[in-house]
Amino acid sequence: MKRVLIIGAGGVGSVVANKCAQNLDVFSHIGIASRTFEKCRHLLKDLVKRYQLERKSSSLFSIYEVNADEVFEIEKIILEDKPDIIINCALPAQNCNIMEACVNTGVHYLDTAVAQMEDEINLPPDDWYNRQYAYADPFKKAGVLGVLSIGFDPGVVNAYCAYAQKHLFDEIDTIKIMDVNAGDNGHKFATNFNPEVNLIEISENPHYRSDGTWHKIEPHSRSMEFDFPVIGKHRIYTMGHDEIHSLYRTLRARHIEFLMGFSDNYLKYFHALKDVGLLSIDPVVLDDGRQVIPVKVVKAVLPEPSSLAANYKGKTCIGCLIEGIKDSQPKTIFIYNICDHEATFKEVGSQAISYTAGVPAVTAAILIAKEIWNEKGLFHVEELDPDPFMTLISEQGLPWEIIDYA
Ligand code: NDP
Repeated sequence: MKRVLIIGAGGVGSVVANKCAQNLDVFSHIGIASRTFEKCRHLLKDLVKRYQLERKSSSLFSIYEVNADEVFEIEKIILEDKPDIIINCALPAQNCNIMEACVNTGVHYLDTAVAQMEDEINLPPDDWYNRQYAYADPFKKAGVLGVLSIGFDPGVVNAYCAYAQKHLFDEIDTIKIMDVNAGDNGHKFATNFNPEVNLIEISENPHYRSDGTWHKIEPHSRSMEFDFPVIGKHRIYTMGHDEIHSLYRTLRARHIEFLMGFSDNYLKYFHALKDVGLLSIDPVVLDDGRQVIPVKVVKAVLPEPSSLAANYKGKTCIGCLIEGIKDSQPKTIFIYNICDHEATFKEVGSQAISYTAGVPAVTAAILIAKEIWNEKGLFHVEELDPDPFMTLISEQGLPWEIIDYA
């Protein structure tokens, strides 16, 4: 039995806390720490009620207020809570601080997205994980495991690629990671996870990797249509995304690209906001002299992503279209998960986007707790054995299928 500490009590953190509470044969204690203490308290109340844990509550859970922009604050809570594993569900800007604290205190570490500071956009493609790679030796020396970016995409899709390379192909030529949310949340425009992180990610000039080099394009300038299982045909657009910046280092693929579905309506609103400068991270000065960052204003007026869950209908489909050679024959597969917004709301009170990001992190935490993933150092998902992960992720709520087009 291991003790887990979750940092961040937002959309993903809430799913992670629920899933940890569903695995009390693995986790003997669940700590929840976040910037706004009230969110921790609210989440705890929900967990206790949902899983009828009134009797165990005081010994099972602890909640803390923490500013994860300060390493010493994180370390203070680690010393008090004594976790074996930290699941970082705060924002990418806090990743390195939490990693630093894990190294200093000897705690295993998981996050769900590449480290990125609030004022960073359009990083050079080879630099994406560099800030986190600086911790590779310290993690090894501390004798703990850090798993980078273990949400769904990045995360599960990296495991899909590793599984395909291990079991399904002799040679992989092309990987297209495809993500479509075919759900409807009833709003004209809303983001499914933290608006700042999401809108900045969509604003960036995408890169894809082909024939040993990066190709940089304008946002939404390259697209294709794909007939997805269950959710049907959707237009998907090339986007910059974390996983391609690690996969190309480990997988022997000629072409790696990430594509995401956007409706015409979404793109209309997105481009209107972008064109008038409202997605900018550069401060502007108001008439009264106050400075504001435009994208933070947009965040403030958009619905809180977790509030979308109750009325979300429809499904997501995220997977990898992989082409290559097996037994000297060309082979194409699509390996994917379908996730239903209404089902995830019923199970944990969250929409499918938070669910698909949170379940993989807990799956990985279980593998670490059981010492099935027992490496020491810093790893991307595709560098770890995909087999136990692929088995457990289905059991934890994200089953996968393979379509073989050959
Ligand atoms: P939210 O904004 O809903 O939650 C973030 C939480 O972190 C909030 O509770 C917030 O506190 C807390 N937080 C922010 N800054 C600090 C800080 N300095 N100290 C302590 N706590 C802090 O975001 P999401 O849950 O939607 O996303 C969480 C992470 O998951 C992000 O890194 C995102 O990129 C990633 N993600 C990954 C996906 C994947 O598939 N790989 C998919 C979706 C998200 P407060 O409440 O005070 O704001």
